[in-house]
Amino acid sequence: MEQTFIMIKPDGVQRGLVGEIIGRFEKKGFSLKGLKLINVDRAFAEKHYADLSAKPFFNGLVEYIISGPVVAMIWEGKNVVVTGRKIIGATNPSDSAPGTIRGDYAIDIGRNVIHGSDSVESARKEIGLWFPDGAVPWRSNLEPWIYE
Ligand code: ADP
Ligand code: MG
Repeated sequence: MEQTFIMIKPDGVQRGLVGEIIGRFEKKGFSLKGLKLINVDRAFAEKHYADLSAKPFFNGLVEYIISGPVVAMIWEGKNVVVTGRKIIGATNPSDSAPGTIRGDYAIDIGRNVIHGSDSVESARKEIGLWFPDGAVPWRSNLEPWIYE
């Protein structure tokens, strides 16, 4: 089954949005397969965002991610990468539809509350970086009520 990497950024943790965000993924029917609250250091944040290292906002982005604890998660389910990005909403909260996490809880692109992998390949890389020991193996008894 497909997996994605979701991270609640420091602003989401500080603003008390952890429960709300986890609830949205749970209620959709996705399964939580990894969860930790951690502070990451600069080198780790730079590795996570390595693809953006040439961008003018890269340093500010890294400062933001290391400014407080983040909630790192693995979520699993059919099409969870693409659907997870839909639940999150567009990168710039000015463009994120109401009903999405960023659309409901953010204003500035540099304080957009949450990260989600943008492809199955990125998800594989990011899960490997954040969860080197892998996911927690378990199956929800609700699956027959979620999948045909
Ligand atoms: P997404 O998080 O939607 O996948 P990107 O991968 O393009 O978006 O960018 C990673 C993160 O970098 C964004 O979520 C946002 O926090 C930050 N970011 C992107 N573009 C800008 C920008 N123009 N100014 C400031 N921060 C930005
Ligand atoms: Mg991205």
